[in-house]
Order: sequence, then C-alpha cells, then structure tokens
Amino acid sequence: MTTVLFAAPALWAEYETELPKALAEAGVAAHVVTMADPAEVDYIVYAPSSPLQDFAPYVRTKAVLSLWAGVERIVNNPTLTQPLCRMVDPGLTEGMVEWVVGHTLRHHLGMDRHIVNPGHIWDPTCPPLARERPVTVLGMGALGSACAAALRGLNFPVTGWSRTPKPGCLHGEAGLRQALATAQILVLLLPKTPQTENILNAETLALLPHGAVVLNPGRGALIDDAALLAALESGHVGHATLDVFRVEPLPSDHPYWSHPRVTVTPHIAADTRAHSAARVIAENIRRGEAGEPFLHLVDRVRGY
Ligand code: NAP
Repeated sequence: MTTVLFAAPALWAEYETELPKALAEAGVAAHVVTMADPAEVDYIVYAPSSPLQDFAPYVRTKAVLSLWAGVERIVNNPTLTQPLCRMVDPGLTEGMVEWVVGHTLRHHLGMDRHIVNPGHIWDPTCPPLARERPVTVLGMGALGSACAAALRGLNFPVTGWSRTPKPGCLHGEAGLRQALATAQILVLLLPKTPQTENILNAETLALLPHGAVVLNPGRGALIDDAALLAALESGHVGHATLDVFRVEPLPSDHPYWSHPRVTVTPHIAADTRAHSAARVIAENIRRGEAGEPFLHLVDRVRGY
C-alpha cells in the first residue's frame, strides 16, 4: 500500500474525495493521509502554503508533487532532494486561456470606452480586426502555448518567445527584441527565475510599440514595477492588467491600486482544479510505482 501525504491542509477539503477516487481510477492501491511518520511516506502532495518545509526526514519519498504550476518557492529548498514535479493541470490551463483571451479582447475591442462613458459620448470608431492586432506571448510552455493557440484561433497574429528554439517561436535576446517590437498586447507567462526577474524593465518596455498593453498573469517579479509605472505615466504603455505581484496581497497603498490605467486582479488568472489535478497527481504516482518517468519533472538547475 502506497502512502500519500497530502501536505496542503488548506486545500484538503477539495481533494479529500477527489484524490482517493483518482488513485483508484489509476489502479494505484494507496491511502491518502494528512499526517504520517515521514519515514513511511511514498509521495508528498505539496503547496507553497504548506507548513512542511524540511524534506530531509522523508527518506523513502519518491516524489514531491506540487499543486502549483510555479515552483519558485520550493525549488531552492536545500532539504528537497526528492524529484519535484510541478502542476500541469488541464483545468488550470483552461482558466488561464479564458483570463488571457478575456483581457486581450477587453483591450483589443476598447470595451472600457463604452462601459465607462459618463458623458454618453457617441463614438462610432470601430476597433480593428484581431488579424490587425499583433500579440506577443513571452513563455511558450504549457500555459503560454495554450493561450497563443486560442488567440490564433481568433485570428490574432501571435509571436511566441521562449528560452529554447521551438517551431514558429522566437528565442534569445535578438528574438526578445523582435517579439517586443510588434507587441500591441504583451502577455507574460514566464516562470520566476534569476534569468526572468525584471525581464520587463525600462529598456525592454521602451522596445514596445507606443500605447502597448501589458498583461501579466505570470509572476510579479517579471516586471520592474518602477519602470512600468514610469512607462504608464509617459503613455508609452497604454494599460497594464496585472494578476501577480512581488508582494501578495498587493499592499493597499501600492500605486497600482490607484493608477487609472492599471487593472489589478488578485492572483485569480488560473487556479488548480481539484477534479483534473487529482488525476494528474494519480497518474504521476502510478508512473512512480510502475518505474516509469514522472511527468512535469522540474529541472532544479533551470529553476522550473
Ligand atoms: P512551463 O510549461 O514551464 O513554461 C515556461 C515557459 O517559459 C517555457 O516556454 C520556457 O522556455 C520559458 N522560459 C523559462 N525561462 C526562460 C528564459 N529565461 N527566457 C525565455 N523563456 C523562458 O510553465 P507554465 O505551466 O506555462 O507556467 C508559466 C508560469 O505561469 C508559471 O511558472 C507561474 O509562474 C505562472 N502561473 C500563474 C498563475 C496565475 O494564476 N496567475 C497560474 C499558474 C501559473 P523553454 O520551453 O524553452 O524552456
């Protein structure tokens, strides 16, 4: 019998039924517990809010399975020597696609002009077609590539950029400059690593077309906040819709809250969904028990 420690107490109510059910469906004989002798734990299901921070006593644990897609809060834990898998959840991806498409369409169609129109101004200016609105996605992983596909489905010309070469995508520093130069709407879906921190700074913001819109559902640290505020002040950046921040909840006196051209959403772009995520975890445990390679294994050196 495999012992699975569910080490995210705040989420237990969501997984209490789903996880045992998913394990049974995957044909894994396991019991899921919220407390256990560390020496007897085979797998740990984990979230950054977990009180568990010392993985050293978990000597027989075959993998730590994160409920979060972003692993920056656990990847450098020196006691974590077990394989770490991040979450790639179809439900989470679906949510992210909806958030990105929704906020892209808001800015593309200029919806605010008609929703907030106290003077009842009859402005018959028609927005361009999506095919005339270039969008750039930085980070073409599980989430970025799904968002790019959905936006392409609506005819937006999408430029993708990531670390390694991929068909139809840009990469490298020259690729980044090229990707930013056309981005009327820029979507950040990079993980937080030492290489991506402040990737959007005064220099890179200056490469965007005048009036570009920034959507950040990635991580707060991707943006140099002072540089973004300066670009918003000058009008070089037309609007920023931000879901993630260096400090969360965003402090009530942060200038983002009151800036007329910033929209704050409270880290709700995409949530891990227990029904689908439980099946991803169960499949990884099945793989571990069958001696097959884990899905979504984190590369500690790369940091994601
Ligand atoms: P992923 O599959 O690991 O994809 C990450 C992408 O970023 C890959 O395309 C990778 O390039 C690229 N990348 C990483 N470092 C880079 C660098 N230095 N330069 C250029 N490209 C780089 O991750 P994901 O599942 O798509 O998730 C992305 C991020 O979204 C997560 O890390 C998390 O921070 C955020 N997120 C936010 C929410 C929310 O609710 N706001 C929810 C879930 C996730 P390669 O493919 O070439 O390696």
